[in-house]
Amino acid sequence: MEAKRIERYLKNSIAKGRLSSAYLFFAGSSEDKEKAALNFAKAIECEKKDFPCNSCENCLKIESFVHPDVKWLRGEGVVSSLTIDELREIQKEMYFKPYQGKKRVYIFEVERLNEETSNAFLKTLEEPPEYTTLLLIAKSDKEFLPTIVSRCQKIMFSSGKRVLKKEEKEIQERLIAAMNSLSLQNPLGIFAMAEEIINENEIDSSLKLLLSFYRDLLLLKNGADKRFLTNPELTDEELSSSQIMEIIELIINTRAQIHQSANLKLSLEVMLMNILAIKGGYGGTGRRASFRS
Ligand SMILES: [Zn+2]
Repeated sequence: MEAKRIERYLKNSIAKGRLSSAYLFFAGSSEDKEKAALNFAKAIECEKKDFPCNSCENCLKIESFVHPDVKWLRGEGVVSSLTIDELREIQKEMYFKPYQGKKRVYIFEVERLNEETSNAFLKTLEEPPEYTTLLLIAKSDKEFLPTIVSRCQKIMFSSGKRVLKKEEKEIQERLIAAMNSLSLQNPLGIFAMAEEIINENEIDSSLKLLLSFYRDLLLLKNGADKRFLTNPELTDEELSSSQIMEIIELIINTRAQIHQSANLKLSLEVMLMNILAIKGGYGGTGRRASFRS
């Protein structure tokens, strides 16, 4: 589900008094899950009718991570380094009445649980404390024992990124391979590739696939996490960020031209030549192919 829909769904459960004792937030981005967890905790504790109000004492304390009933266990190995004694201590607390809010909320950002901590968790899930809502945040639901997962309400976040279909992936790979074999010294190869794009595929979708390739390349160049890429298996190419940006701009312009029903084949040929010129650094002259040259 999308993060916004999840928040609405959780608010609804609170309004109807149908709160589960344990939730598992998984998949999607950490950012979305953390934000949803924070808003969920506020919605649980908020004093206002229209919750979360983001201005009552409960909401403000949760926002600054100082609410006595909302515990967030996360960060650099906090949970993985949590000893079994510490976990048992926390679990005892879970059975106490809340100090200030309506419930105790425990948010665990967990990488993985070892057998000992899994068993300790399981015990809590089997006898859910009356005043506590437990929230596990994880990358995947596969990281826990099925007995744990089955006792949590599973909330799957959508990744928000579009993954290429198998056929799209194949076309993209063919396009990139064909482009890598081209050279400005061999215009016939360029003409043939333009011809092929026109004959075999929908032109616009080919250009979109090229765009997605260079967009990912740019993200990768700038240190983006591979999880955010449409092509996670992509490896760095010997192009600078500014070269990639020029290529992206070129493809975008060509797409626009094509929509204005310009000469399709010529537009593609010029685009390919310009990409080659950018990749080759224009031979130092800064010249690019254009309609006029
Ligand atoms: Zn509030």
